[in-house]
Amino acid sequence: MNAIILLGPPGAGKGSLAESLVREGYTHVSTGDMLREAFKNETAVGLEAKSYMDRGALVPDDVIINIIRERLGDAPADEKFMFDGFPRTLNQAQGLDQLITDLNGVITHVIMMECPDEMIIKRLSGRRICRSCGAVYHVTNKPSKVDGVCDFDGGELYQRDDDNEDTVRNRLSVYTEQTKPLVAYYADKNLICPIDASGSIQLSVDSALSYLNG
Ligand code: ADP
Repeated sequence: MNAIILLGPPGAGKGSLAESLVREGYTHVSTGDMLREAFKNETAVGLEAKSYMDRGALVPDDVIINIIRERLGDAPADEKFMFDGFPRTLNQAQGLDQLITDLNGVITHVIMMECPDEMIIKRLSGRRICRSCGAVYHVTNKPSKVDGVCDFDGGELYQRDDDNEDTVRNRLSVYTEQTKPLVAYYADKNLICPIDASGSIQLSVDSALSYLNG
């Protein structure tokens, strides 16, 4: 198997970029989505994770490494994984290296999405998500046709519990303290591909593709 990593602060657009890259044949693995799904299904992991997530804190590394180990299983040699929101600490990065070595795999690119803090706060505090299909909107940048209702399936739009401004600020400082050191970790391995994530989603997609296909 091989893998790419989408690295960047919350609100940089990792999820949106991932949606487009799925069309390039990548298997999308989002630890945030997996944890929210686990909570919805009321599993032990989900219930434990929720208290960290609501504060904008990180879920413990061993919990995360375990869900990734299970998700990778015996990944076939030709599978291309795309990690979104993982790894988020040096410990997790080292855990991932071990898992990948065990599977005879390789990390090919770390797409580093750069975006200023003030833009992130605006993006996340205005973000709304469809409860049934997961489509993502923004109250001013990308409003739905009818307020609070999904354009695609009429589902109810909601705000993630951790998208309020205070929690967003906390997530940003957690990113700076715990996740940013990964830039140096992967730069040492010559894997960092920096992209400007402050423009449109299409711009991020085009920049990422120029690394992945170029
Ligand atoms: P975002 O990138 O917008 O912050 P995610 O959906 O990736 O959103 O993550 C939401 C929350 O889930 C995080 O604030 C954290 O509590 C938890 N989480 C997700 N991935 C990880 C991870 N790899 N390690 C620790 N906690 C995680």
